[in-house]
Order: sequence, then structure tokens, then C-alpha cells
Amino acid sequence: MSPPYGSRLAGKIAVITGAGSGIGLESSVLFASEGAQVVCADINEKGATATAEKIATLYGKGRAVAIHADVSKEEDVKKMIQLAVTEFGKINILFNNAGIMHPADDNALTTSEDIWDLTMNINVKGVWWGCKYAIEEMRKTGGGSIINTASFVALRGAATPQLAYTASKGAVLAMTRELAVVHAKENIRFNSLCPGPLRTPLLMEFLNTDEKRDRRLVHVPMGRFGEAIEQAKAALFLASDDSSYMTGTDFAVDGGLCAAY
Ligand code: NAD
Repeated sequence: MSPPYGSRLAGKIAVITGAGSGIGLESSVLFASEGAQVVCADINEKGATATAEKIATLYGKGRAVAIHADVSKEEDVKKMIQLAVTEFGKINILFNNAGIMHPADDNALTTSEDIWDLTMNINVKGVWWGCKYAIEEMRKTGGGSIINTASFVALRGAATPQLAYTASKGAVLAMTRELAVVHAKENIRFNSLCPGPLRTPLLMEFLNTDEKRDRRLVHVPMGRFGEAIEQAKAALFLASDDSSYMTGTDFAVDGGLCAAY
């Protein structure tokens, strides 16, 4: 059994959604490596369980627990936050990271009400439910850090249309800013993580041809897709006291995309 690599999250309890894949998986393992105990939540229970088992293997039993949670369902999110309290006694960090991007051609003329509602329910309402139940618990222990995953598409228009997704991520930015302002004096910090295009299942299913992938990379000065672990490292910074004077920010980790014209 390896000891944690660091202690930036020693004694902290984190809940991470979308923990079964991509950013959520890498963040769960990284947070645990820095001393956190982690609730790994995902609609894909098998994925969440595999992540918790990986943490147990690396850092020992009792460092992680898995739960099936569909973030668009209030009862699931409530149970997810309660699990942190019953299992570990409190919640210090919530990473509202689960999200979907419908792979269909999704511009104003082709998108459907079903795609729109599904995307908003998971990407926006899911973040609200998470914040609602985490705030109640964080108040009891004097504060916490909440990170909401938005996207570069909320900061710039995407050339490959994904209208419902873009609108949902814009809502995440707006909601995060308001929450940051309203809860600042309670020492509950809220920041948006804005990833650039990543080599994770979510985007690779959408950019399913060389032509589409090349088209997307034209806009990335670094000329490559990002890796989930690069987002996890940024999320760790936002989760830890290293970012103690940061709240309400749109934190872009995007290979320079937002700096380009
Ligand atoms: P991913 O597909 O690898 O992982 C997403 C995880 O979320 C999956 O495990 C999935 O099962 C889970 N999930 C989906 N719907 C859920 C629900 N209703 N309840 C609970 N869990 C659910 O994708 P990723 O790239 O790691 O994406 C993570 C976040 O990053 C998402 O919010 C996404 O919008 C955002 N993001 C991704 C990119 C990119 O290029 N991949 C860019 C910007 C933002």
C-alpha cells in the first residue's frame, strides 16, 4: 500500500460526481493521493465502484466509497451528500463535475426539446442540487470549496455547434458567480473549472472523425487535446486552501484556447 503523495487535502472529505470516468476519475484518485477521503458518485455505478476500488488499492480501505447517483435527481444528490456525512462525518469539498454533451448535431435548427431538457437537467439542475445540499452541510463546519465544471464553450462560441451544451455551461458560470457572492462570508467558495477540449470519452464520441478533431484543434494554440489529469490538478488547486482567496472565478485550463482570436 502506498501512502498518499501529499497532504494538501489531509483531513478533508470530498464528494466528486462523474467519478467513473475522465476528469472525475482522475480527480478522485488525485484528491485521495493528497489525503482526502472521497465519495465517488456516478450514474454509472460500475465506474464509480472501480474508482473507489482503485483508491482503496492505492491508499487503503476506508479512503473512498462509491454511490450510484443521477445528479439530475434531487433524491440521489441528497443521498450522495448524506453519505459523506454518515461515512466520513462531514463534507469539505464538492466537485460538481458530472455532465453530458449530446453527440447529435445540435444547432438551433436541429436540436430537440428532449436534448435540451436532458442536457439542462444534468448539467445545470444537477449542479444546483449538489450546491443546495452541500451548502447546508458546509455551514455546520464553517465552510468549504465547491467546484463546478463548466467549459471553454461558456467563454467562447464553439465552431462545432452544441447549442444545448453551450447554454448549459453558461448557466453553470452564472450560477457559480452568484453562489460565490451570496455565500462568501460563510467561507464557502465556489469556482468554475473551464476545461478546453480533452481526450476523454465525452468529447471523443462527439469528434468522431479526424476532420472534426483537426477542426477543433485549429483553435487550440498548444495544438493538442488536454488530458483529464491536467484538469484534476487544477481542481485540486481550487479544492485546497492554496486557492483560499479565490471565489467566483471562471478558471480556464484550455491550452490557450480562450487567449486566441
Ligand atoms: P466523461 O464522459 O469521461 O465523464 C463524465 C462522467 O459523468 C461519466 O462517468 C458519466 O457516467 C457521468 N455522468 C453522466 N451523466 C450523469 C448523471 N446524470 N449523473 C451522474 N453522473 C453522470 O467526460 P469528462 O470529459 O470527464 O467530462 C467531465 C465534465 O467536464 C463534464 O461536465 C463535461 O461537460 C466537462 N467538460 C469536458 C470537456 C471535454 O473536452 N471532455 C471540455 C469541457 C468541459
